[in-house]
Amino acid sequence: MVSEADCLFCKITTGEISAEIVHETGRTLAFRDVNPQAPTHVLVIPKGHYPSAAALAAADDGLADEVFTAAHAVAEREGIADSGYRLVFNTGPGAGQTVFHVHGHVLGGRGMAWPPG
Ligand code: AMP
Repeated sequence: MVSEADCLFCKITTGEISAEIVHETGRTLAFRDVNPQAPTHVLVIPKGHYPSAAALAAADDGLADEVFTAAHAVAEREGIADSGYRLVFNTGPGAGQTVFHVHGHVLGGRGMAWPPG
């Protein structure tokens, strides 16, 4: 497992690695994905290091709620809240998770196929 010190998204929270930040609260950060898969593709993270959605849920201190609220705020700011957007948490390598700092993908601005690939 990637340690906090080596975590890419922890480095974005500290500013060590730059990102285009679109929304920030006390405990969350949202920034554009470097490899966008839709006209809007923003990643929403807790600033604290939790490796997965399961770990975030287990934190049980309201932080998961804040991440969901931040994701919707991003969708509103990006103008996709009404047309619809997809909020995805790839969880585990088999589901395509490659960065082990929990992040919700906010995707929108185009039609979304279902089921996803
Ligand atoms: P996942 O595969 O669900 O773990 O998603 C990781 C996402 O992080 C991918 O969509 C990558 O394009 C994105 N990503 C990787 N490095 C960066 C970075 N430095 N800034 C913004 N997004 C990144």
